[in-house]
Amino acid sequence: MLFATAVFAMENVLDVSELNQDAVSLTQYFSVLEDSTAALTLADLQLPENSRRFQTNLSPSAALNYGYTTSAYWLRLALKNSSDKPIERMLEMTQPLLESLDFYYPTEHFGYQAIETGYSKPFANRPHKSRNFVFPILIPANSDYVVFLRFETPNSIIIPSHLWEPKAFYAHERGDYVIQSLYYGIMLAMVIINFLLYLNLKDINYLLFTLSVIFGVLSHICLSGIGSEFVFGDNPFLAKSGTGISVSLSFIMLLLFARRMLDTETLMPKLDNCIKFFIGMFLICVIFFIISFQTVAKFAALFQLTTTFLLLIIPLICALKGQRGAYFFLGTFATLSIFLVLRFLALFNVLSISPLFEYGTLIGQEVEVFMLSFALADRYKSIHLEKENAQQLLVENLKNSEHVLEMRVQERTTELEIANRKLKALSRTDGLTGIANRRNFDETLIEEWQRAKSSKQSLALMLLDVDWFKKYNDFYGHQMGDECLKAVAQILKDNLSHKGDLVARYGGEEFVFLMPETRSDEAFNVAQKICTTFQVLAMPHSVSDFGYVSVSIGVAVITPTENVTPHNLIQVADEALYLAKNQGRNRAILAMN
Ligand code: GH3
Ligand code: MG
Ligand code: MG
Repeated sequence: MLFATAVFAMENVLDVSELNQDAVSLTQYFSVLEDSTAALTLADLQLPENSRRFQTNLSPSAALNYGYTTSAYWLRLALKNSSDKPIERMLEMTQPLLESLDFYYPTEHFGYQAIETGYSKPFANRPHKSRNFVFPILIPANSDYVVFLRFETPNSIIIPSHLWEPKAFYAHERGDYVIQSLYYGIMLAMVIINFLLYLNLKDINYLLFTLSVIFGVLSHICLSGIGSEFVFGDNPFLAKSGTGISVSLSFIMLLLFARRMLDTETLMPKLDNCIKFFIGMFLICVIFFIISFQTVAKFAALFQLTTTFLLLIIPLICALKGQRGAYFFLGTFATLSIFLVLRFLALFNVLSISPLFEYGTLIGQEVEVFMLSFALADRYKSIHLEKENAQQLLVENLKNSEHVLEMRVQERTTELEIANRKLKALSRTDGLTGIANRRNFDETLIEEWQRAKSSKQSLALMLLDVDWFKKYNDFYGHQMGDECLKAVAQILKDNLSHKGDLVARYGGEEFVFLMPETRSDEAFNVAQKICTTFQVLAMPHSVSDFGYVSVSIGVAVITPTENVTPHNLIQVADEALYLAKNQGRNRAILAMN
């Protein structure tokens, strides 16, 4: 044990009393022994053959970096306090994915006390409850103080480590948890927004993106130690494999998302096959992370790296082909690749950017989520625009067809109107003679009656009956009778003298003459003229006393008042007609009022 506290000649001793910084990176102060058997104990380290194996004066890189290994590692850290007061410090190993991490510190009785931590041990073992491994140290006044750390893990070993001034450490830790919370808040918001968009738009891209973000966040939960501290507690399986599983699933979703967004299947079938291959590989990785972590860990890391560059090349080609959404993918994965390069440079202290270590994955994820959200938003916008254009086209088409329809309707309406007018005319025309029929006469009589009444003008009406027509029919036949009626109608039509006059077939061989604004003498003249016309024309009627077709006419003239009706006018004319018949036919009689 004395050996353990003695300081090696070559060793880089850290005098804590001389430090005036809040935190010191410890990489260069560690002496390291790789124990490939993973069987050495602290006591074994006393043996000279072992103590000689400690490597000292490591390069001052940002982190201990041993990749994937089955070896256990011993770290020896020689501290010194040359002041008169004891000094407190916090030793932080910023790597939650250590299966076992044992911390050995000297006791007052020249012995060593061990604190056994790591994700395979209960969280309660940790002397400082935190997502990373932190060991408080009290270095007595004027003394050398040598501590040992032993770690062993199947996970990749990259461990930044610091010695902190306690107050500064606590402030740093508060800040760290604020940043973590902010990250989860933002991611939760993005998950909710994109999932709601998926529910609303039913666009599978939103679901794939949401799942990719969810798995990304789960991987960070495991990777950052937040899982062990707050989510799943002491669960060595999830602590070990959770990151690998969720990163693989996240990549699967991301690749499916990229395939759909960039339409690689049609744009670049060969690279699309490549994407499918990686999707398959990641699925296999998930299975192996569950059954045999050691086998798959290295390959998975390789796939992740290759996929990141694949996701840089594919959008680059798509962008060259002028695909709009590709620019966002290109921006995202170009930024992520730059992050990877910077992280690599920072690891070997070419650049000193410590936040890249602490928050690299976190910043990377946020960049990715934000930029890909823009891609989705842009996609929504272009779909919306396409829809709008299609709608406009539809509206125009509709307008056109509406116009055509309107024209058709107009044509049909005109046709209908013409047909209606014809029908109306037909319904007001006598089928045999082609002059106005009884209905037409009845309507016209009422109109003219009202007009004459309001203008206080006289209205003349003649009732006209063909003489001995039954005989005519009997002698010449019904058909000849019809022809005769047509001829009579034509004669009457020819005798219309005024524009407003109407001649109509009243029924059978009776006709009616309506003459507005006509005095008795005028009306009687017309009647006599008609009789004369028949006498002159002398259409043969062998069985008539006269030997030709003759007519009898009753004429009535009235100036309408409240006391008389159109019916009275007809009645008076009918009486005059009756007189004409009685007096021997072939004459006109004017009714006397
Ligand atoms: P009157 O001099 O007294 O009027 O004798 P009439 O024979 O003319 O009188 P009546 O009323 O007895 O006969 C009318 C005849 O008119 C009866 C019918 O056969 C004939 N008639 C009525 N309508 C038509 C028609 O549409 N076509 C033909 N061919 N004959 C008709
Ligand atoms: Mg008659
Ligand atoms: Mg008659």
